[in-house]
Amino acid sequence: MITVKDLHKSFGKLEILKGVNIEIAKGEVLVVIGPSGSGKSTFLRCLNLLEKPTSGEITFEGESITDKRHDINLTREKMGMVFQQFNLFPHKTVLQNIMLAPVKVKKMPQAEAEKIALDLLRTVGLSDKRDAYPSQLSGGQKQRIAIARALAMQPHVMLFDEPTSALDPEMVGEVLEVMKKLAEGGMTMVIVTHEMGFAREVGDRIIFMDGGHIMEEGTPSQVFGNPQNIRTQDFLGKVL
Ligand code: ADP
Ligand code: MG
Repeated sequence: MITVKDLHKSFGKLEILKGVNIEIAKGEVLVVIGPSGSGKSTFLRCLNLLEKPTSGEITFEGESITDKRHDINLTREKMGMVFQQFNLFPHKTVLQNIMLAPVKVKKMPQAEAEKIALDLLRTVGLSDKRDAYPSQLSGGQKQRIAIARALAMQPHVMLFDEPTSALDPEMVGEVLEVMKKLAEGGMTMVIVTHEMGFAREVGDRIIFMDGGHIMEEGTPSQVFGNPQNIRTQDFLGKVL
């Protein structure tokens, strides 16, 4: 579904991604781990062109999205993204938050967008919050709404950048549970996380990034059970 070839990204003189290569299959759950500053967020943001790659090629569903002629907006519609900060619209209700992009961007009829939104609220277990405002929700509830909002665009892939890092510990589980359900439903997902238990359980493949490179890649049992790279060993030694 996604192919990344020799992806480089610099900010000014500082090279952050130093040649990343990866293929992501349809239905795959790819988990990205690694120390702070290793380029995980930059990698994720390059995938949906929130950051413009300095060089290299990304293809998505057979199309080169790094090609100058490519319509970035069309690609973004097919890639849902969930951030550490939920970024819900504070003056809109939960239902309005979820319906906004399908109606505005996709020109979906209100009734259809509402039906999708209500289905998604059920999926994330928050049907009773449809008319609440974001300020009336807990962090975990906000993040579940942010996930529903991204899903409302019916994306082909979901990108998660540390979706539980800003949450109080008791709210992490409910968000991971929603993500696990999504994975089980066959959604293609790329997830940056420090939740190693979740990564091991839900990830099909793990990549360990360090210094702008993918240093190690493998199944969860390979990477967590028998890491080959000394940097991976060192990192896992600190976080596990
Ligand atoms: P990670 O998500 O693994 O913690 P990031 O991709 O966020 O790493 O950042 C990698 C490095 O790139 C950091 O040193 C960060 O300061 C730098 N960086 C990220 N975004 C920008 C930007 N927009 N401008 C300049 N430097 C940036
Ligand atoms: Mg980051």
